Amino acid sequence: MHGERTTTDDAGLQGRRRRIASRAAARPDALAGHAAQGCPNPAGSSRIDTAGEALIDCAPPGEQRERSRRRTVSPTQRIQGGALQSERHERDMLVEMGRRLWQRGFVAANDGNLSARLDDGSILVTPTGMSKGFLDASDLVLVSAEGKRLKGEGVATTELGMHLAVYSARQDVCAGVHSHPQGATAFAASATPLDADFLTEAVLALGKVPTAPYGTPSTMELVQAIEPFLPDHKALLLQHHGAVTFGHTVREAYFRMETL
Ligand SMILES: [Zn+2]
Repeated sequence: MHGERTTTDDAGLQGRRRRIASRAAARPDALAGHAAQGCPNPAGSSRIDTAGEALIDCAPPGEQRERSRRRTVSPTQRIQGGALQSERHERDMLVEMGRRLWQRGFVAANDGNLSARLDDGSILVTPTGMSKGFLDASDLVLVSAEGKRLKGEGVATTELGMHLAVYSARQDVCAGVHSHPQGATAFAASATPLDADFLTEAVLALGKVPTAPYGTPSTMELVQAIEPFLPDHKALLLQHHGAVTFGHTVREAYFRMETL
């Protein structure tokens, strides 16, 4: 009985996948190139898009990711002021995770910075000269993939180059967090990489965490110091400075910082 039901379900699922595939093939995929640089929208539920896209949860993870990349921006994703829902969601997440960074003592005063890459490849970053504990969503600065300011009255973090380097090197990364947590910074100050199996959960969550050589903060020296490590890691120590973590979402990047 159980086996019969499974077979029937599989047949139904495959039929739905075939219908979705034929619809996708028939539809011009205008945003394919654009989406390749963008990031899936965690706020944009799969169920608010077209009927075909609404079945996204039935597909295996790899297929979901691929379909998510191809998802076009629907009018229902528009919010007031013409901003995309994903932008508002990312603004809220950056504010919330910035507040947590400050509350947990990972940053002091105006230290640290966070960013998120949006669906269209533009990047939201925290402004320079403001505490991450007291940000408003409107304080965030939107910049292009090249770092040109697109929206926002403030000035982007002086570590913008570091965030841009991360996104340039990693198409799978859509969020970055830089802070100075005391424990990790102690390792960074002593140039001790976390590349041994110190703690089970940290190893599982982060893998090996190397120490990038010292680069003066806010300069290309720092960018060049981290670039060799970007392809293969989720978190880096910055010698005599602090740490940077990245992930597919702001929450993931932040949690990696907590773990670190
Ligand atoms: Zn710093």
